[in-house]
Amino acid sequence: MSDLAAADPGLAPTGSDPGPADGEVSPDDWRQRLARALAGVPAGAPAPAVWRALGEAGVLRRLYRGGNALGPVVDPARLGDLLRAVDARGDNGATLSVLVQAASALPILGSGRAAVAPSPVAAARERVLTGSAQVALAATDEAAAGSDLSGLGTEVRFEDGGLVVHGGKRWVTNARSAEFLLVLARRRPGRHFTDFSWVLVPTGTAGVTVRPAATGLLANAATGHIALDSVRLPADHLVGANGRGMAVFARHMSTERLAGAQWAVALTGRVLADTRERLRGRTVDGEPLWHNAVVRRDFAECLVRVAQLRALCEDLAGTAATGQNLSAGALLKSAVGLTADAVLARCAQLQGADGFAAGGAQTVRAEAAVLGIGGGVTELMLDSVADLSEQLLAEWRT
Ligand SMILES: Cc1cc2nc3c(=O)[nH]c(=O)nc-3n(C[C@H](O)[C@H](O)[C@H](O)COP(=O)(O)OP(=O)(O)OC[C@H]3O[C@@H](n4cnc5c(N)ncnc54)[C@H](O)[C@@H]3O)c2cc1C
Repeated sequence: MSDLAAADPGLAPTGSDPGPADGEVSPDDWRQRLARALAGVPAGAPAPAVWRALGEAGVLRRLYRGGNALGPVVDPARLGDLLRAVDARGDNGATLSVLVQAASALPILGSGRAAVAPSPVAAARERVLTGSAQVALAATDEAAAGSDLSGLGTEVRFEDGGLVVHGGKRWVTNARSAEFLLVLARRRPGRHFTDFSWVLVPTGTAGVTVRPAATGLLANAATGHIALDSVRLPADHLVGANGRGMAVFARHMSTERLAGAQWAVALTGRVLADTRERLRGRTVDGEPLWHNAVVRRDFAECLVRVAQLRALCEDLAGTAATGQNLSAGALLKSAVGLTADAVLARCAQLQGADGFAAGGAQTVRAEAAVLGIGGGVTELMLDSVADLSEQLLAEWRT
């Protein structure tokens, strides 16, 4: 039983309820369930339609197993299958939309008591789990670099028995399609991890304005910038305990980093398969390019890089999903940053001019750059790995 449920059996996060027959769902059954859920969603459908199909099929509710006061714990194998199934649709914007909600926003929404008692937070979470609504995670702030999260300026203060949220967020996935925003705000000045809280902000609330991010990439992710102009909300819109915002975020960041790595494996594998087919069919002087020694060696290098990332995912999945330590997430996200762009750039080059076609390998590469930026830039991740070097080296000696 989870820590939270042990304290009060009535407090088990609802997302941890596996459903009566869930224990019998084999990995194959799970993949078939995913395939069935997505089969009826037309190619290029808006991301909310993909999300709705997953929710209606019960996939989102069954993604989490147990949890504690910091929120539900994702089943890493099911998360990987989900991302592979969504990635296979070839719409990176939709995959990003699903990833952020499934791996970060929903778990954070499930943290604390408000998520399980009758409350606006619990009601919002239920709608998101059933796919009838989307939730955006708004952490990156107008007032500070994204790599300086503790410097964020958006404030939440208690006033007249309610909350007032003021500030701005930028580059938020699903900002233009979500019914709910999960806003990371500071409750007092300072950079201590207890200075921050999460607030649930319905997008229709007075004072909330969303404008599109000016980009043609990842169109289906509905990315946008959010202004929060003295937004007033009842006090029960606080998500999780006051001042636990960063602790909850840190715990679930590892899950998002695992999800990023799982998506990177699926995406690079898909692009490699497409590139291989093209090389087999493209001839130079009567010989398929696939037989060219340089092409084969470069392609093999890409395969080795992806195989390494895949192995790292499998090795660290459990640790990352439970957020047991910070090193799993930092290692995974660093590895994604070092792998995805190198592999996708080589594939795009090997596709020649065709790589420039609309939605072709060059666009895929540009869109996949989000893997090295969103949720923590690669340089910052490598910095964390260096910080953790003593711990890592000690672990490897045992
Ligand atoms: C498509 C997309 C979707 C996004 N979705 C969301 C979302 O849903 N929710 C959300 O909250 N945010 C989201 N973001 C924002 C994202 O998390 C930030 O962009 C990211 O944290 C980096 O912040 P920044 O863009 O301000 O870059 P900066 O922090 O300004 O960094 C700029 C560059 O400086 C370099 N750099 C930064 N720090 C270091 C360092 N320590 N060492 C060495 N070099 C460094 C890196 O090259 C980095 O790319 C999204 C971004 C994109 C592009």
